[in-house]
Amino acid sequence: MTVNLEVTNLVKKFGKFEALKGINLELNAGEVLGYIGPNGAGKSTTIRSILGILKPTSGSIKVFGKDAFDNAAEIHKRISYIPGTVYLWPNLTGGETIDMLLALSNQKHTAKTDQLIQDFHLDITKKNRDYSKGNLQKVALVATFSTDADLYIFDEPTSGLDPLNEDIFQQKLLDLKHENKSILLSSHILSEVERAADRIAVINDGQIIQSGTLEELQNVASSEVEVSTKVVADKLATFAGVTNLAEIKANSYSFKIKIAALEPVMTYLTGLGIINLSIQRPSLDELFLKYYNVKEVK
Ligand code: ADP
Ligand code: MG
Repeated sequence: MTVNLEVTNLVKKFGKFEALKGINLELNAGEVLGYIGPNGAGKSTTIRSILGILKPTSGSIKVFGKDAFDNAAEIHKRISYIPGTVYLWPNLTGGETIDMLLALSNQKHTAKTDQLIQDFHLDITKKNRDYSKGNLQKVALVATFSTDADLYIFDEPTSGLDPLNEDIFQQKLLDLKHENKSILLSSHILSEVERAADRIAVINDGQIIQSGTLEELQNVASSEVEVSTKVVADKLATFAGVTNLAEIKANSYSFKIKIAALEPVMTYLTGLGIINLSIQRPSLDELFLKYYNVKEVK
């Protein structure tokens, strides 16, 4: 396994203000890491540190095994990055801009570039000053995806995209992943990283408050089960992890449970004979709110 990015105990202070309070992240080849947190959490500060734009106050950042700040120029040759807000030359057309961005990273306009322009349905003949926010974002996305790199960093890339283009964006991420690239994808909306991310790190107030696979994160909250059985299920309440149990009608029940605790309950219910069953996993946005409440709960 190739580790392309390793952030260890990263602390970043702006004057007295500690924006990052000891961040740890790891990203391997062929992996998408979702970096989730509300506005002001520290996502862009982390990314700008990884890019070597900001010097860490303490801790270390290794990109391709090398210190991110000391070797920024060399590392940049293998990184493709798109910032959250895109500012592009107002008088260039979209097409000229794409070629300019590619040239700036020593890249050429290839068949892949044309394919991306087509897939994102981008009219490249307009001037940047005439594009909508979403189209301007597509100009930058085409250049970012078209760039041949090993580490792709997207900082809130889909804020201006409509659902159709969001979908194309997600497909392009999966393509990169299958090409064994590393992708760091930041967002303040969980559903934006849910599809592509292998692992998710949740940042709040400069600290990673949770990280793991989607399944691991989902196990922090309970799923909602509704079940109808052939005979009365009077032992349901005795199982560990069953909460909010209610009998909807005769032999029909609803309850909450974490997926990890579900198996013995299912064995019991199967023994009784299941007539109907639905399991609603917790939505990520629900989890997100739960995480954000951590601070208030403490
Ligand atoms: P996010 O990208 O998650 O929205 P940022 O990383 O941009 O958050 O910001 C994290 C915190 O650091 C915020 O409180 C922000 O105001 C502060 N911050 C970011 N950059 C600077 C800077 N150059 N000087 C002072 N404070 C900064
Ligand atoms: Mg940001």
